[in-house]
Amino acid sequence: MKSIRRPWMPEPKPKNARRGTPVSQGGVDLKFYRRKPWRSLRASILQSEPLCRECKGNKRLTPATMVDHIKPIRLGGAPLDADNCQPLCDRCHAKKSAREAKHG
Ligand SMILES: [Zn+2]
Repeated sequence: MKSIRRPWMPEPKPKNARRGTPVSQGGVDLKFYRRKPWRSLRASILQSEPLCRECKGNKRLTPATMVDHIKPIRLGGAPLDADNCQPLCDRCHAKKSAREAKHG
């Protein structure tokens, strides 16, 4: 008797393996950024404040290329509140994102 049966062992079922679910950052709905309410808010913010706010604070004048949520949506920030938005340049936005990533 050499074959060992282990009926109590669950059979491996590869088809049950969890598929890698694409997780957007912190679960923020990326579609939000494609929708009109955000786009028009973003446009009006860039229009009234075309320079990067962060750079301006450092006495530099850099054209803003994007509008950033001061308090990220995933942390409960209001997505469509102009007071929660700031124009940033690419560089400042990248820096801010890196900062946020570090702090979790
Ligand atoms: Zn900047």
